[in-house]
Amino acid sequence: MIRPFNFSAGPAALPEEVLQQAAAEMLDWHGSGMSVMEMSHRGKEFVSIYESAEADFRELMAIPQNFKILFMQGGGLAENAIIPLNLSRGESADFVVTGSWSDKSQKEARKYCDVHIAASNEGSDRTSLPPSASWNLRPNARYVHLCSNETIDGIEFQELPDLKALGTEAPLVVDFSSHVASRPVDWSKVGLAFGGAQKNLGPAGVTLVVVRDDLLGHALPICPSAFDYKIVASNQSMYNTPPTYAIYIAGLTFQWLKRQKEGEANAQVWGVAAMEKRNIAKSQLLYDAIDHSQLYFNHVSKDCRSRMNVPFFLRDESRNEAFLDGAKARGLLQLKGHKSVGGMRASIYNAMPLAGVQALVDYLQEFEKKHA
Ligand SMILES: *Cc1c(COP(=O)(O)O)cnc(C)c1O
Repeated sequence: MIRPFNFSAGPAALPEEVLQQAAAEMLDWHGSGMSVMEMSHRGKEFVSIYESAEADFRELMAIPQNFKILFMQGGGLAENAIIPLNLSRGESADFVVTGSWSDKSQKEARKYCDVHIAASNEGSDRTSLPPSASWNLRPNARYVHLCSNETIDGIEFQELPDLKALGTEAPLVVDFSSHVASRPVDWSKVGLAFGGAQKNLGPAGVTLVVVRDDLLGHALPICPSAFDYKIVASNQSMYNTPPTYAIYIAGLTFQWLKRQKEGEANAQVWGVAAMEKRNIAKSQLLYDAIDHSQLYFNHVSKDCRSRMNVPFFLRDESRNEAFLDGAKARGLLQLKGHKSVGGMRASIYNAMPLAGVQALVDYLQEFEKKHA
């Protein structure tokens, strides 16, 4: 069966090989006589699945040993509360607000600490990023939060700021939900990074948190035990029952990522570096097609356009329905934009092959010709 190309922003398409392997292992995982869904999380079978997933993620993302990897629940939105509960000490935190998700984060943090907006791109109508040299950071902030890829607005940091160079020792907290594993991360600049799995790593239900050791152990007394990073870390993410099946599928996705290679034999890259090459090629192909058309446009500054989420609009919005119907008939699914901004959005995460983006570009051109 040939499956359609799925441009959903999340939960999003998974690599077909991952789905096939999960199907093949559904009734009997590796001769255990059980589905992964039916196993005790403390049994040796699931513990081996967990340990491989953690080790593979650490290797893929080149996460240093002084960071813990936590598999949590509650998604990115729960982390908006869990982070201030663990890091703020009831004092203060600075936020760089560049779109819908970082705005949600700062609003939630206000329940737990003193929040200051260090920079915002509201004035540019969320089409550019405020340069880090202009950020108004407070010396006493317990952390600085940003969202490195704004899924709805289609804005991505091409480089993380170096907070030390900006004069603060505060740790950088990064919401990388929608582009984790699409490009390497410079961990020397990061204190904590978090993301729900359902965009680029696996199914909904598991949230990855990568946190530097020195940030553990400062939770507020009101922090729920199951959300206290130190308790989660010292129990290998099994203080309470973890989302076992979601961790298993994420683990299969990590194995798939490890198999991905790009480039000639003498200059071959693998894993996240291979994905980055592919993601650059995919996003360029799509943005070029949009920029060269009379019918479609994207209004984000070229220096911060997202490689993962490409929002675009039809100049004639009365054709939106026809555009989406025609796309669906061609096997191009879930292109409707987020309800808060309208228009269209193509999310082209790691699992989207270049052929899928090419099929979308072909359709964009054909639809434009037909309606010129
Ligand atoms: C999807 C998303 C979230 C929210 O994740 P939930 O799992 O729904 O809580 C947070 N931040 C970003 C950048 C996202 O794309």
